[in-house]
Amino acid sequence: MSVDTLQPTAHDAAMSLADVREAIAAAARDAGRAPQEVTLVAVSKTVEVARIEPVLAAGQRHFGENRVQEAAAKWPDLRRVYPDVTLHLIGPLQTNKVREAVALFDVIHSVDRPKLGGALAREFERTGLRRDCFVQVNTGEEDQKSGIYPDQVDAFVAECRDGLGLPVAGLMCIPPAGENPVPHFALLAEMARRNGIDQLSMGMTADYPGAVALGATHVRVGRAIFGARD
Ligand SMILES: *Cc1c(COP(=O)(O)O)cnc(C)c1O
Repeated sequence: MSVDTLQPTAHDAAMSLADVREAIAAAARDAGRAPQEVTLVAVSKTVEVARIEPVLAAGQRHFGENRVQEAAAKWPDLRRVYPDVTLHLIGPLQTNKVREAVALFDVIHSVDRPKLGGALAREFERTGLRRDCFVQVNTGEEDQKSGIYPDQVDAFVAECRDGLGLPVAGLMCIPPAGENPVPHFALLAEMARRNGIDQLSMGMTADYPGAVALGATHVRVGRAIFGARD
């Protein structure tokens, strides 16, 4: 499926969802993995509530948003109807939004610096809430991108887990645009393996089957489900 040909207006998100699920299952089977090992996180950033509802009605329950404010505006109402939704924060988190983020999201995919790790640990302590955390790794060592550099990952994971007591469930990456993502997925998988971490958040519309082949447990797919964003 080509993303460029998706027309947001004519786009049937529920049908596209079925296609994505099938592609995930096929990639998993090809890799000798069980399709249920892969959680599809439907990325609904910039998508209004009326266009999210059909995807919920089709049975999708994991959703990703990249902004706390936007998620806070959209999801409380949807959750009254679908209380079993799991909400994933996939975008950068400022420490002054940690309180709101921990109240709203079930999983944080973007733990990318010590200050944020500390703020999350304090908020978990204060509220008694614990949210699965993914450490975001800047596998391409890009200046403009957030994430821990590969040579710092082992130390940062140890600091989060042992120093702060954070529930580090996984590693996450966003490979550099326009590059072959496969080496980045392989690097993330290797860093997880040597740190005893079993979840990998990797793969987006352009590359999720390849991510599944390399062990992704969470793929974050937006445009292939909801159509092109403005
Ligand atoms: C937007 C976004 C996605 C989804 O990208 P698509 O190309 O629409 O599938 C995945 N992960 C992150 C961190 C994002 O910001």
